[in-house]
Amino acid sequence: MNIHEYQAKATLAAFGAPVSAGKPAFTPAEAVVAAQALPGPVWVVKSQIHAGGRGKGKFKEASAGDQGGVRLAHSIDEVKRFATEMLGATLVTVQTGPAGKQVNRLYIEDGSSIARELYLSVLVDRKTSRVSFVMSTEGGVNIEDVAHKTPEKIHSFSIDPATGVMPHHGRAAAHALGLAGDLVKQAEALIAKLYAAFIGKDMSMLEINPLIVTNDGKLRVLDAKISFDDNALYRHPDIVELRDESEEDAKEIEASKHDLNYVTLDGAIGCMVNGAGLAMATMDIIKLYGESPANFLDVGGGASKERVTAAFKIITADPNVKGILINIFGGIMRCDVIAEGVVAAVKEVGLKVPLVVRLEGTNVDLGKKILRESGLNVVPADDLDDAAQKIVAAVKGLRSRG
Ligand code: GDP
Ligand code: MG
Repeated sequence: MNIHEYQAKATLAAFGAPVSAGKPAFTPAEAVVAAQALPGPVWVVKSQIHAGGRGKGKFKEASAGDQGGVRLAHSIDEVKRFATEMLGATLVTVQTGPAGKQVNRLYIEDGSSIARELYLSVLVDRKTSRVSFVMSTEGGVNIEDVAHKTPEKIHSFSIDPATGVMPHHGRAAAHALGLAGDLVKQAEALIAKLYAAFIGKDMSMLEINPLIVTNDGKLRVLDAKISFDDNALYRHPDIVELRDESEEDAKEIEASKHDLNYVTLDGAIGCMVNGAGLAMATMDIIKLYGESPANFLDVGGGASKERVTAAFKIITADPNVKGILINIFGGIMRCDVIAEGVVAAVKEVGLKVPLVVRLEGTNVDLGKKILRESGLNVVPADDLDDAAQKIVAAVKGLRSRG
């Protein structure tokens, strides 16, 4: 799960990390009130979307002005104008994709005077099975570019979980960030606080880009992005509260309510498969025959009829889906349960696109019988290859007829 920058900063501040004063705002009037509570003379008006690259982003609407999604304002009037322009407008950044994201909240922050912009992130390193810190003196820019062009400017170390953060980690971080004097002490303290926050809140990724040195020699978190480990969210009701469902795919939210492993993709063929491996293979073979999957969906091992029904409804509700392929290899999952779930879903929501079904394994004959007797217009398939060819042909046929 991801959260907004302002929420990430509040989370880090609770562990003692230095952040600027600021307040979220949902309307221009709230932005003005938020700015009035800050000293000025510079305020930062920041679009809150779950994507980075906001500063260099562009709004789709001309009415939003030609500046990016992070703006420095020099008066309260300017804060108000920026807020009016940005709220409701669609921001396109390198991370949003061409569709962009609508800005529904802003963060109004006390402006910092910046001496240096640094990079610092914390992540779970699967190679060392430890939490690692990654640092660079090149902050405020796309870190992937730095890693590509000047890999020697990226430094990292991992933390032994048995000892936690030691003073030498802080010194190593200060060295990697090119800090001296009192800033070394600040870096030591910051590393310990970030590690405590990362472990304490079960984060999977924390990225601070930039971490700044202010003109008066203070380290400060200027931007923050946090992802949490979904499997640990049950331990953190305070974090779950921060979820902004408007930033997530509606189909994926619905799927998660039914414990379905579902990911939205941009093709035309809806897939219902059991087992992640078979789902991947199904997607591959659809591609092989010249179409693309509209989703990844693993209904899981012991899915109930209700879960199958929910899954089928999510697929049929997607306007991009021009055909559906059900590919089930019944092991623990029984073919008759799949068939009953599909029939129940179609009774409720109808079926407007071609449906190819390949069933194999436990209770396959019963499953086929249920589908046959349902009166549904199902195209049966013998194996995965046959199934993929049939659904691709059906979808291409629809396309050529317009
Ligand atoms: P991002 O573009 O989504 O990564 O958003 P950031 O929060 O990182 O802001 C982008 C850039 O705006 C930063 O790298 C800074 O250069 C600039 N910026 C953000 N806040 C301030 C501030 O308080 N003062 C100044 N002078 N620049 C800022
Ligand atoms: Mg940033």
